[in-house]
Amino acid sequence: MRPAVLDRLGEIRHDWTLAEVQTLFALPFSDLLFHAQRVHRRHFDPNRVQVSTLLSVKTGACPEDCAYCPQSVRYETGLEREQLLEVEEVAAAAARAKAAGATRFCMGAAWRSPKERDLAVVIAMVRVVRALGLESCATLGMLTPAQAAALAAAGLDYYNHNLDTSPAYYQKIITTRTYQDRLDTLAAVREAGLKVCCGGILGMGEAPEDRAGLLHALATLPAHPDSVPINQLVPVAGTPLAGSAPPDPLDFVRTIAAARLTMPRAHVRLSAGRGAMSDELQALAFLAGANSIFYGDKLLTTGNPDPAHDAALFARLGIRPEERPGVSVELGSDAVELAAAHGAA
Ligand code: SF4
Repeated sequence: MRPAVLDRLGEIRHDWTLAEVQTLFALPFSDLLFHAQRVHRRHFDPNRVQVSTLLSVKTGACPEDCAYCPQSVRYETGLEREQLLEVEEVAAAAARAKAAGATRFCMGAAWRSPKERDLAVVIAMVRVVRALGLESCATLGMLTPAQAAALAAAGLDYYNHNLDTSPAYYQKIITTRTYQDRLDTLAAVREAGLKVCCGGILGMGEAPEDRAGLLHALATLPAHPDSVPINQLVPVAGTPLAGSAPPDPLDFVRTIAAARLTMPRAHVRLSAGRGAMSDELQALAFLAGANSIFYGDKLLTTGNPDPAHDAALFARLGIRPEERPGVSVELGSDAVELAAAHGAA
């Protein structure tokens, strides 16, 4: 019997039930991809992919205990700590990212939440990124409503704050902040008028129902995130999740497709872990509705596909970078120094 949930695909809904999301995951693979591609084409050019770059502006020594993250001060990962960068260093990195074809520049800082003096520096960084004509994004930890408003007033476009996993599995991954803390920051960001970037990580030992639970939590927010990064864990020696097995690649693609169906207008981003994915798996993910990537040859502690390889993959697939109004972009092969903050932004 045809599941009733299929009759409402393509609608922008906030009343998803967990059972409905699980029904999507349980569809035959080809049916799931067919529906996801159909909905994707309703809202996006299927041959355009948005390209972001990510720079760590403050690295390591984070007091939080996210089990996947080499930046936590609690784990011995050999990570070299770095103080908050100078604004000029960020301006130079953003200019290089723009020259290499990025349209969005994301800045990450390993903080529980920003101190006021640090926020003032990040605000200056946001201004220089915007002055270059790039979209700006930041991930700085938990924010108060006043901090979110200050970032919005400076011209920040996006704020990243991930839910990471399902509410049920969350306690296995982080104990130093609650799921509700995260929802509160997301509310502050939304209310400040910032666009929300919020997703999660697969491959942390979660069960299939946790992947459905993550998407259910995201799709039932008062507004769907504008960007939904779906990361694959990059296990890092010294972190509690160092020995985690990767998710089944087809289950990863299922999650992308279910994200596309539950949040039809969101940019679904292939984020951390792309370096471990074959070209064919990435092509399947694009077919399932992924339409954003992080671009650049290096993440903080792990590799990212070589920019020249990404440019070649785009060419093989007939994919072009998504353009911003009035801005034409090409993927170049200039090496962009990227660093991931918050483990797997
Ligand atoms: S994910 Fe972010 S908050 Fe968690 S330990 Fe890493 S830097 Fe800190």
